[in-house]
Amino acid sequence: MKYVLVTGGVVSGLGKGVTASSIGLVLKACGLRVTSIKIDPYLNMDAGTMSPFEHGEVFVLDDGGEVDLDLGNYERFLDLTLTRENNITTGKIYQSVLEKERRGDYLGKTVQVVPHITDAIKNHIESVATIPVDGQEGPADVCVIELGGTVGDIESMPFIEALRQLSFSVGPDNFCLIHVSLVPVLGVVGEQKTKPTQHSVRELRALGLTPHLLACRSAQPILDNTKEKLSQFCHVPAGNILNVHDVPNIWHVPLLLRNQNAHHSILKQLNLLSPRIAAAPDLRDWTNLAATHDNLTNSVKIAMVGKYVGLTDSYLSVVKALLHACIACSLKPSIDWIAATDLEDESSKSTPEAHAAAWETLRKASCVLVPGGFGDRGVKGMILAANYARENKVPYFGICLGMQISVIEFARNVLGWEKANSTEFDDGTPNPVVIFMPEGSKTHMGSTMRLGSRRTLFQTPDCITSRMYHNSKYVDERHRHRYEVNPEFIGAFEEAGLKFVGKDETGNRMEILELPSHPFYVGVQFHPEFKSRPRRPSPVFLGFILAATGQLNFYLEKQQNGS
Ligand code: GLN
Repeated sequence: MKYVLVTGGVVSGLGKGVTASSIGLVLKACGLRVTSIKIDPYLNMDAGTMSPFEHGEVFVLDDGGEVDLDLGNYERFLDLTLTRENNITTGKIYQSVLEKERRGDYLGKTVQVVPHITDAIKNHIESVATIPVDGQEGPADVCVIELGGTVGDIESMPFIEALRQLSFSVGPDNFCLIHVSLVPVLGVVGEQKTKPTQHSVRELRALGLTPHLLACRSAQPILDNTKEKLSQFCHVPAGNILNVHDVPNIWHVPLLLRNQNAHHSILKQLNLLSPRIAAAPDLRDWTNLAATHDNLTNSVKIAMVGKYVGLTDSYLSVVKALLHACIACSLKPSIDWIAATDLEDESSKSTPEAHAAAWETLRKASCVLVPGGFGDRGVKGMILAANYARENKVPYFGICLGMQISVIEFARNVLGWEKANSTEFDDGTPNPVVIFMPEGSKTHMGSTMRLGSRRTLFQTPDCITSRMYHNSKYVDERHRHRYEVNPEFIGAFEEAGLKFVGKDETGNRMEILELPSHPFYVGVQFHPEFKSRPRRPSPVFLGFILAATGQLNFYLEKQQNGS
């Protein structure tokens, strides 16, 4: 196994994940099989219990792992299906060591950070790296490891030490360290500053690791003399100093790296520089994608009604899935964020101006999306948005909570059950149309939801979603929820026109709803955003965007005719 370690310096939020994914992609385009590991040095066992407001979205994997959003970048860039083990946290490592200690595996010994924690980290990395994640058998050729946080953080110290030991044990031919750093400019026409990078490289070297390549983030391309300075003071050959300056969209990053021969430097370090592998990486697809994205002119207005507003990271995969679907339709997504509380009539969290502006934005949008979420903040506003979309025949797409919202709205306003609710928001509702799932836990929050890939069987071939999913009989999508539509009331809903066109294998769990009297009113209990890929948009997202631009029927007819 060859390892490429990506560390970060100076500040967080440099786009280390995108840089690491792009490095993986360039290597993959050289014909290598690539896997990836993200290390998060926090104590949480996984990202599942962390707020998307603070930490960005919780990404969900096929196996039900609730992981850092960077794993989403890896899956999308490298087209992988990762496992929960590919996200290592301090919590996971400590738990495994402490379990061993209680079992008596270290009997007689003092259990210490060095060597027990560091050994556990090394063993974990070496075993996870061999898990096949690209649909082929056997381990990949290269494992890209991204170390979260910045070098020098107290909490990442055991990881740095473990990685230092790993680099020594696997030998120099099998280890390449790329340090992502910032080259800031002070003032409007100031000089590009190399000192922060120098300091963070010095920190890294003091810990026993020397970078082979530097990936320098900057607003503008870095100048030759800046590069020379960095080379001299950071002990990195000038040819190995990569510049990752700001680009119009992230799909340019792999191209930027390829153009600077990053693959050449990395392969050389890894002793993989055979003529077959070193041939220019084939990135034609990505070149097209990046250029298409740059040249999009027509846009589609999407109202996104949620709890967190304007925080792309909190709904990162939904934003990406919208982009993938829009690109397939040659459209630029124009996402209008609406704080659900602003739609409510008398919300303590809003003002009359914000209320008016929110409604104006909603009315101007071509379609409405209510994404997943937890807790009752903004629920009233989301119900109003679903009601507006249903009554005005505006395409509506509800994901997870968004589907549950449309059920509550329908119960209240069509069935006339005024107090209908989810027991998540009102335990005493006389019409519990959304209820807690029996297998959940109310006392333990970590990893106790219905998680990961589950099968949905289409109940009829004659619905929009099954047709969008290429008339397949079933679909496997990823889940993350505690509540479900109450199966007791399905008869009443269906009689009134709301159809549950997708159910799980037992037939009791509602997975997809549609309103056939509406051009596109779709709710899904799963999260299709997690499996969307740049070239393979999620079918439901695609249907939503096609409906928003009046092209859905044409598309479905064309598909039926096989063209
Ligand atoms: N809060 C809802 C539930 O737990 C929806 C979850 C979600 O949107 N991911 O079922």
